[in-house]
Amino acid sequence: MLGRLAGKHAIITGGGQGIGRASVERFVAEGATVTALDVNAAALDELGQQCGCATHVIDLTDKNAIAEFATTAGEIDVMFLCAGYVATGTILSCDEEDWNLSFDLNISAMYHLTRAVLPGMVDRRQGSIITMSSVASSVRGVPDRFAYATTKAAVIGFTKAIAADFVTQGIRCNAICPGSVATPSLEDRMHATSDYNATRAAYVARQPMGRLGDVREIANLAVYLASDESSFTTGQCHIIDGGWSN
Ligand code: NAD
Repeated sequence: MLGRLAGKHAIITGGGQGIGRASVERFVAEGATVTALDVNAAALDELGQQCGCATHVIDLTDKNAIAEFATTAGEIDVMFLCAGYVATGTILSCDEEDWNLSFDLNISAMYHLTRAVLPGMVDRRQGSIITMSSVASSVRGVPDRFAYATTKAAVIGFTKAIAADFVTQGIRCNAICPGSVATPSLEDRMHATSDYNATRAAYVARQPMGRLGDVREIANLAVYLASDESSFTTGQCHIIDGGWSN
């Protein structure tokens, strides 16, 4: 039986680990031809050997590198813009470096990559763009996520604007807004606090299901949004958070 993504070429940013990596694996399992993009060459090497996807090492904060990638990428049916950076702190503890990196990676990289890839999708009158936002955005206020939530709210505006502008040209654009999901970077953030166990318990407690999300649960949603099964949805924030924002 053909997979749900058979015949589609998908690019997935942040494919080296976490939700991006789980999505690469699920997309390949569903029959897509996948190109995983990440700045971490070692992680991509390992991923490419393990699941047979194409890989491309790139720093997504470098707009020239994005332009160069786009000239060689070929036809793209699905683009999952997953890479992101979590800056911690309030407005008073967020320095300009964190503020700028948050914008450069979480939203400007989406701008540059979409500007490069969307014209080809429009020419072929088909394309699904999936953006990675978060519950920490315009969905809800979360303490100590000032720069992060600002950029993730921008991602929602970006998503809705693209969906509205290209809805009659065969393009869909949807955002995924997860709650807390067990990933290597979330582990790092919990270890960076003074009390790992208490921090982990607090993350778990705020999600009524009483657990962190699993990367495969987010990857399953990405498969749905990439596939023709979701052909009647665009411009939406797909919240997946164990009931946190309910
Ligand atoms: P992660 O931090 O574990 O992995 C991010 C990946 O992006 C890494 O492989 C990293 O090498 C890559 N990356 C970082 N900077 C890059 C750059 N400049 N160029 C190219 N690649 C770069 O990620 P995760 O926790 O799986 O999160 C993935 C996305 O989901 C992010 O946008 C994040 O904000 C969002 N998100 C995560 C959670 C969560 O709880 N984990 C919740 C809500 C939203």
